Amino acid sequence: MVYDKLFSLIDKKKDQMIKDRRWLHEHPELSYKEKNTSEYIIKHYENNKNVKVDTNIGGYGIKVTIDSGKPGKTLALRADFDALPITEDTGLDYESVNKGVMHACGHDAHTAYMMSLVDSLSEMKDDFKGKVVIIHQPAEEMPPGGASLMIKDGILDGVDNIFGCHVMNQLDFGKVYYHKDPTQQARAKFNVLVKGTGGHGAAPHEANDAIVIASNLVMCIQTIVSRRLNPLTPGVVTIGSFDGAGQFNIIKDSVRLEGDVRCMSDQAGDLIEREIRNICEGLSKAYSCEIELDYKKDYPVLVNDDQMTQLVVDAINEANIKEVVGVEDCGPQAQSEDFAYYTQHVPASFFYIGARPDGKAYPHHHRKFDINEDSMIIAAKAMGAVALKYLREC
Ligand code: MN
Repeated sequence: MVYDKLFSLIDKKKDQMIKDRRWLHEHPELSYKEKNTSEYIIKHYENNKNVKVDTNIGGYGIKVTIDSGKPGKTLALRADFDALPITEDTGLDYESVNKGVMHACGHDAHTAYMMSLVDSLSEMKDDFKGKVVIIHQPAEEMPPGGASLMIKDGILDGVDNIFGCHVMNQLDFGKVYYHKDPTQQARAKFNVLVKGTGGHGAAPHEANDAIVIASNLVMCIQTIVSRRLNPLTPGVVTIGSFDGAGQFNIIKDSVRLEGDVRCMSDQAGDLIEREIRNICEGLSKAYSCEIELDYKKDYPVLVNDDQMTQLVVDAINEANIKEVVGVEDCGPQAQSEDFAYYTQHVPASFFYIGARPDGKAYPHHHRKFDINEDSMIIAAKAMGAVALKYLREC
């Protein structure tokens, strides 16, 4: 009943939701540069007397508070709003007008569904207790990440629990997905500069060939996961860039490499970092050269709280959302997410909305990425049901 009341309010906002998403899609902005996006969101709430809006939190971050006026818990809901440095090639009517920038991860949809959900919840203050804090978050895509900056600015002060969700266009439309425990991988990024000595291709003994040293480094690093990490522990190391371009008869004096590390536990992350450091140090001795390593951990493991995740499952099943045909465990997800920072501070759950479009579904971060727009209605109703259950029962 209370769910149906919320759902009919959300249904009435469907056109607005789509209009908002398309405007955001057409005007994407890169992480830390979302000035117009944040202004659009602030303007959206301008005439809503039932919410309080605070701006410039951790950069362009926005906090929207709905206070029921009754004592109770404080629940946070998070939606991110930044885009990616990709040139869009979808051919949509509302294709990006900002060349080289694209909403290729669905953060436009997150923002649009959340604005309509907030409007709907703000009309239902009598139906719950406590407070809802909505976090419109910038810069998810680029470390250090908007989440960590908003937390530093106190966004979680007084917050008991937090939920977030992501539209996923590789997952079935009509279904909502969850996973308990570690759910998204931690990530680190590293740069290596191998400094040899250049020379004539015909006289290698007078040079110190950085290409050979760097090649060895790549192969050694590939033994970390296969020979050092427990085979039952997930971990990935990728060298994504090897800059050794030169000329056939000149021995390179230096080579620059860039790599990416993913794992599902802090222990695995620490082990991989330690081994990469050892290999760089060891090879610099073996080859009498300098090897500079710059290693940066960024997003941690996203750990979903069991109880909060069960609440998500129960709320969605109980609310009987007509557009939802199933709630399933999707298992751990490979991508990293800065929502992970929130999960380090308060018990949290991050879940997924199936958004596979008709036809071919190009992956997230692809220039032809698209979603089924109706997934926004499901996101609004699912997150709305979770919020209502929490604020009425917890
Ligand atoms: Mn994303």
